[in-house]
Amino acid sequence: MAGQNSADRVCSVSVDLDAIGCYYRIHALSGAPPEVARHAILRRCLPRFVDLFARHGARATFFVVGADLEDDAEGRALLAGLARAGHELANHTHTHPYDFIRLGPARIADEIDRAHAAIAACAGTPPVGFRAPGYEISGEAMDALGARGYRYDSSVFPSASYYGAKAVVMGAMRVVGRKSGSVLGDPRVLLAPRRPYRPAAGAPYRDGGGGIVELPIAVTRVARLPVIGTSLTLAPAWLRRRMIAAAVREPLFNLELHGIDLCDSDADDIPAALIARQPDLRRPLAHKLAVFEETLAAARDAGARFATLADVAAGIA
Ligand SMILES: [Zn+2]
Repeated sequence: MAGQNSADRVCSVSVDLDAIGCYYRIHALSGAPPEVARHAILRRCLPRFVDLFARHGARATFFVVGADLEDDAEGRALLAGLARAGHELANHTHTHPYDFIRLGPARIADEIDRAHAAIAACAGTPPVGFRAPGYEISGEAMDALGARGYRYDSSVFPSASYYGAKAVVMGAMRVVGRKSGSVLGDPRVLLAPRRPYRPAAGAPYRDGGGGIVELPIAVTRVARLPVIGTSLTLAPAWLRRRMIAAAVREPLFNLELHGIDLCDSDADDIPAALIARQPDLRRPLAHKLAVFEETLAAARDAGARFATLADVAAGIA
């Protein structure tokens, strides 16, 4: 991507469609979410994203958890319609295991293959992109994707503040005797390139001319602040404006959002125990929508065109 000028700016918006049950696991909450909340991401939040993207003429990438397609016929039909409308459906594993990279080769392959089959059947075309749960990828998993003809991975999140915050939260949970569903991965991610690269064999965080393209999630240039849905909706306005301004100057603004980013905690029946642990759930939906409107408008004003991650990967030599 080196040598691109501002005329070639691209903004890729992707949404990880982790179900509310995933957040129960990461926060080690007991029980199961109530019925409305259980399906809230695909049935309630996804349509809000679709309306948002339509207002900006953006085709987006949706990272789908394969098992959700089997669990929710209504959500599956919605996603099939999005694929027909030109959005991309990509692979976010079959069951969203936070310890994905530690599962061993057979179960890693199984997570990729089962989701692949479910998404291909839903979209009518096989997925070419992958994002691991919890931003943790490994050389082994990258090899498995390459062997299956995947064009890109977009799991690398080279943000020191995200990594630090995760380490602190997991440490604190250990201190109070709770076990997070999350894993803390390889700190070499902090030195990974911020711009698209081809990872070396067995070294997912190093550029090495491999066959698959890595599309890292957006961080700012020097401080490497995460420019993702959660940080944008929680940051004070002055910081948010700086983060957006930094991101839209890049050749590729790989904006990662989560389905939960457009949750309306009251209307979507989100349990208080989860709201207590997810500060973004305490922000009004109107605020979160306004933040994403501001972000997409800034990308457009900076001359970016919107493209799916598959399109971006296809354009990288
Ligand atoms: Zn996820």
